[in-house]
Amino acid sequence: MPLIVQKYGGTSVGTVERISEVAKRVLVTKQGGNQVVVVVSAMAGETNKLLALAHQLSEMPDERERDVLLAAGEQVSTALLTLALKSLGERARSFLGHQVRIETDSSYGRARIKSIDSNRILRALKDGEIVVVAGFQGVDEEDNITTLGRGGSDTSAVAIAAALNAEVCEIYTDVEGVFTTDPNICPTAKKLDRIFHEEMIEMASTGARVLQIRSVELAMKFSVPVHIRSSFSEAPGTWLVEEDQAMDSVLVSGVTYDKNEAKITLLKVPDRPGLAAQIFSPIAEANIVVDMIIQNASEDGTTDLTFTVPKADYKKAIALVEKTASVIQAKGVTVDPNIAKVSIVGVGMRTHAGVAAKMFQLLAREGVNIEMISTSEIKISVVIDEKYTELAVRVLHDAFIENQGNL
Ligand code: ASP
Ligand code: MG
Repeated sequence: MPLIVQKYGGTSVGTVERISEVAKRVLVTKQGGNQVVVVVSAMAGETNKLLALAHQLSEMPDERERDVLLAAGEQVSTALLTLALKSLGERARSFLGHQVRIETDSSYGRARIKSIDSNRILRALKDGEIVVVAGFQGVDEEDNITTLGRGGSDTSAVAIAAALNAEVCEIYTDVEGVFTTDPNICPTAKKLDRIFHEEMIEMASTGARVLQIRSVELAMKFSVPVHIRSSFSEAPGTWLVEEDQAMDSVLVSGVTYDKNEAKITLLKVPDRPGLAAQIFSPIAEANIVVDMIIQNASEDGTTDLTFTVPKADYKKAIALVEKTASVIQAKGVTVDPNIAKVSIVGVGMRTHAGVAAKMFQLLAREGVNIEMISTSEIKISVVIDEKYTELAVRVLHDAFIENQGNL
């Protein structure tokens, strides 16, 4: 019998009524002659609510206890969905992370899955049960509860699908699939029928909030077929597929944006070996993720150094950088939290020249100033003033996706 893993996100299990709808869909899948393992997120908003409770007690909650708390969200939805299935007369059983034994490392809040003991799941399936597994959580070697980072139930689902060698991992969400850009900004955004893993990773890391990046990496590594689709319709969604050289690839598959970063600049840093290390080590130790970094030495023996960090961390980052700046005798520190990163992503860029130039021309024509640029083989990102985000996204989508024939 084919085995299907279905993952339902927070909105899909956001109310008891919706949980009943999910139960019906799971049932239809089973009646279609499949074994079904369901992975669920917490009900929409629950994880944030729990996190806020912890923050009422402490600015920096103890990480172990915070993970115990956050894992509770998925415990609730897992039990409710199992109850819903039972009330339809189905045999179903819930499992928490430690019961399956999803073993992770001990990095609380961003743990990585090391192994999954699929035996208990397989036994329950063999008994004819539908298996419901709590996403987002695991246990470390010492049985401490861990969580996989925000959006982590995507990763739970793909990892379980890999461990069980499932036919497909269906990720059910509140949109029809992966779009060429955010339809809320750009009404001409289109659903993609398929997207390559590498494009999805770039899109997720530049602002598309569809899948946790780690889940895409796992799908790629273990060749898990992933289908991202809506739990509110029957329409086919977007398939994550392996890159196929023979397939006709478009130049740009998606336009993304991210308003969650802030830009920090150190002015006139002496141009000596070791200074970048001195600047970034304290930031790394504070667990702040630096995204773009730009440095360019000038003839006077100093260099300005600009980088971006998550907005949520920028005050902490500035405090650290100001300390370093005075030690190394930089001229000063400036900060701009009102920036946005706008990116175009597509494997077609590998083989086409002039994509960056075209992007810069399009932005120039609209009078949008580019503050930073960074590229990968299949992505170009620019940092611009936040207030031009929507304009930039529309212009780029229009040129590269809507009218790509006219480029
Ligand atoms: N409930 C967790 C979160 O809100 C995990 C998930 O939804 O995937 O981040
Ligand atoms: Mg999610």
